[in-house]
Amino acid sequence: MGQSIKLFSVRGIAVRMHLTFPLILAWAALQFGVLARGGWTGAIFGVIATSLLFIVVILHELGHSFTAQRFGVEVKQIVLLPIGGVAQLAHIPEKPTQEFLIAIAGPAVNFGLAIFLGVVAWIAQFNVSLEQLPGLLLNLDSMSLAALFTYTFASNLLLGVFNLIPAFPMDGGRILRALLAMRMSYPRATVIAVGIGQLLAILMGAVGFLQGNFFWVLIAIFIFTGAGQERQLVLARSVLGDLTVEQAYSRGARSLAPGATLRDAVELTLNSFQADFPVCDGAQLVGILTHARLVEALNQHGPDKVVSEVMLSDIAPAAPGDNLLEVQQRLAELNVDALPVSQGGAFLGLITNRDINEIYRLASIRAGSQEAGDPYAPADVLP
Ligand SMILES: [Zn+2]
Repeated sequence: MGQSIKLFSVRGIAVRMHLTFPLILAWAALQFGVLARGGWTGAIFGVIATSLLFIVVILHELGHSFTAQRFGVEVKQIVLLPIGGVAQLAHIPEKPTQEFLIAIAGPAVNFGLAIFLGVVAWIAQFNVSLEQLPGLLLNLDSMSLAALFTYTFASNLLLGVFNLIPAFPMDGGRILRALLAMRMSYPRATVIAVGIGQLLAILMGAVGFLQGNFFWVLIAIFIFTGAGQERQLVLARSVLGDLTVEQAYSRGARSLAPGATLRDAVELTLNSFQADFPVCDGAQLVGILTHARLVEALNQHGPDKVVSEVMLSDIAPAAPGDNLLEVQQRLAELNVDALPVSQGGAFLGLITNRDINEIYRLASIRAGSQEAGDPYAPADVLP
């Protein structure tokens, strides 16, 4: 997720902040200091209020994350972006009820916080009402605790409501898809949910355009493309999920002997259309020399180094019966382009990203879909 720095870690989940993030704090200082005529006090108010807002966003993402962990879904990280937060889950939960609960947990945190803040404000007798909000944004006479409460209370309500809009990549889109998937297949539920989301996005974009509100237009474009990516991703999963390594791997892949030199490997690269080479001792698979590893080893040791000393020997090979979707995920996790294919230790061939993309292209022409999308990442947008 581009350039980001780690803030802290909770239950094994790294919470990171994108490097563009301080821009939003600068914007807040400007908004409250200059536009709302708050001066330095206003600028400080803006920075504190916005920092609180992002704590709220982190809590929202943790709501998704902790629920996901309860269902055994690995949460890779939470990233704070200027437009909101993203909790990156390792995979989509299989059961609609699980996706439903994971998706609804985020907005639920916001509504819970809003109720909590409302009760505290009532006890402390702060004059907190939503009607103050526009005035607060336009004219900030004094930095009061009540103003901070109003701002945080309102942002929780807005965040909760906004994320319930039934359109991908908002939580509401996932909730809608999960509800539909309880009655029909997952891909079909996705296609319908994406259609509804894109229709809403078009309406939102049109209204925003007519009213000259270009923030709405930007959000509408974001929703429209996000929804399209979700459809492609799910269709890709359903196509690849039905295929196995057997149907895609290259049987004619060349291999290297453990005693070969890097010079031999370079020669083989030039003489074949292959970049990554399985290393075989007779018929027995002992490792893989990837293109990246070859280049690195050449720089470090020169061309006379022996392959067995620099090959990757701890990468588990794929089996012919393995699911292509899982192999694609393993390739991404290992950050390699190819895996050797073997059965019972005997070398059979090589499966590469290119092989997978090729068979996916062919299979999806049959299935009537297009390219694969991005990894699964529920996104949240600030209103
Ligand atoms: Zn969310």
